[in-house]
Amino acid sequence: MQFTNRRRKFISNPQTELYGHALQFYGQPPLENVSLSEFEVFAVDRLKLLKTIENLGVSYVKQSEQYTRKLESESKNLSFPYRPEVVIDDRKPQSGASEFDKRRKDHISHFILRLAYCQTEDLRRWFIQQEVDLFRYRFNDLTSKQKSDFLHRNNLQYDTIGDEEKKTLLDKLVNSSYAVSAITVEEQDFYKVPFQDALDLVRTRKVYLKAGYVYIPHQDIVTIVLNDFRTRLSKALALTARSLPAVQSDERLQPLLTHLSHAYVGQDYSIQKNVGKISLEQIDSLSGKSFPLCTRQLHQSLRENHHLRHGGRMQYGLFLKGIGLSLEQALQFWRSEFIRGKVDADKFDKQYAYSIRHMFGKEGKRTDYTPYSCMKVILSNAPSQGDHHGCPFRHSDPELLKQKLQFYKVSPMGISQILELVKGMHYQLACQKYFELTHNTEDAGFSLNHPNQYFLESQRVLGGGKDIKREADSAQKPQDNSAPRGSSAAAPVAAADASLAEMTEELDSFFQDA
Ligand code: SF4
Repeated sequence: MQFTNRRRKFISNPQTELYGHALQFYGQPPLENVSLSEFEVFAVDRLKLLKTIENLGVSYVKQSEQYTRKLESESKNLSFPYRPEVVIDDRKPQSGASEFDKRRKDHISHFILRLAYCQTEDLRRWFIQQEVDLFRYRFNDLTSKQKSDFLHRNNLQYDTIGDEEKKTLLDKLVNSSYAVSAITVEEQDFYKVPFQDALDLVRTRKVYLKAGYVYIPHQDIVTIVLNDFRTRLSKALALTARSLPAVQSDERLQPLLTHLSHAYVGQDYSIQKNVGKISLEQIDSLSGKSFPLCTRQLHQSLRENHHLRHGGRMQYGLFLKGIGLSLEQALQFWRSEFIRGKVDADKFDKQYAYSIRHMFGKEGKRTDYTPYSCMKVILSNAPSQGDHHGCPFRHSDPELLKQKLQFYKVSPMGISQILELVKGMHYQLACQKYFELTHNTEDAGFSLNHPNQYFLESQRVLGGGKDIKREADSAQKPQDNSAPRGSSAAAPVAAADASLAEMTEELDSFFQDA
């Protein structure tokens, strides 16, 4: 769709009437053409916004001043609507996006993420939670009149009661809510709502109930609207999931959507900046100090069993590559560990060495494989019996996780904080809390998206602000000689958004289980 004459189109096109209000229920999908590049930018920006909401919801009290200030600032940075009092103007502003553009971006990006996040129960739950929090923030920001406008636009027939009825019910209304006094009753609107639409308020006895209707003060109407929004979104995601096969048959969209649902928004750790900075002798000590729990448990299992099944080799092998192990080091590392177990040197060279060279882009299609992000670890290929890969915060039984954390000397108070986050399905935040507890810092100061990011941040903290620490220089030298410095650094930046899933599958096929 061209927006060269937006004012005219805004008036004549019912699609754009959607943007007449700062908030919407996303009842109608966008009908215009969206370019692939816009599609991707919108989706990634919304994902950033939703991740910010998740982080803020854990760090601050929702709707507190700091929470709303930070959320407003992020919305502004990402060009999403953030000031409901702004009157829509489809003329091009002097600089930045117009309010029309922001609302359009909000609308389209919501629907793109619906496609990406309808695929599994976990994804749906996460998406609904963040969208509901975003909606709550925006709804609370509306003026009283804008709230009423919004309700009427969306056919929520919650009528306000008249002055006469208010006077008759005065005592009941005052006694039913902390926020209402005899003085304020006169000044504010009360909505008469069927009780089944306000079960939360009825359950917590926050409203006056009479003859099947509850009387809700203006400030509490958000609870009802949020329930409605949540129900609509949940149904919409179930419907979207049903039509997903049709969308997935589009070869341009399918990889993009898969990548989005596994996406993290951050650095590309396939670029090996630190090749040669890590020695094999350092790995044991680094695993205790700077590895996140997922790779710490993989390392421990490898040392104990002298073997890892293919899911573990993939996850751990790519992580080690990401922290700076060269191909020669990786071959030496895996070989020396495997031959301590049931695999002899000959079998290792025949069966496993090829796949390690492949991981480094030296065999097959010579692709530079990317270490797994948290989202990928959390959402795909859940471990089964005998596997050690996955994210312990997501995939371990809470009791087992508790034991692991106790074993790693996390304090009882820290363990309950982590388990509370896990219970709320904030796995990456639980991991971030683990980082803070094991690094004696109150605020990690970063938003965790990737195991390799965890490692780098840990090294930064332990190194007093510097990057990777060179610990044992003497131990370093033999590998320095053999490491092909910079060879992998020349590897192409993974412009691999669209082919990531395909690449991983291809690599997977080279890792046959022993
Ligand atoms: Fe690893 Fe990420 Fe899980 Fe932490 S949250 S354990 S870094 S996958």
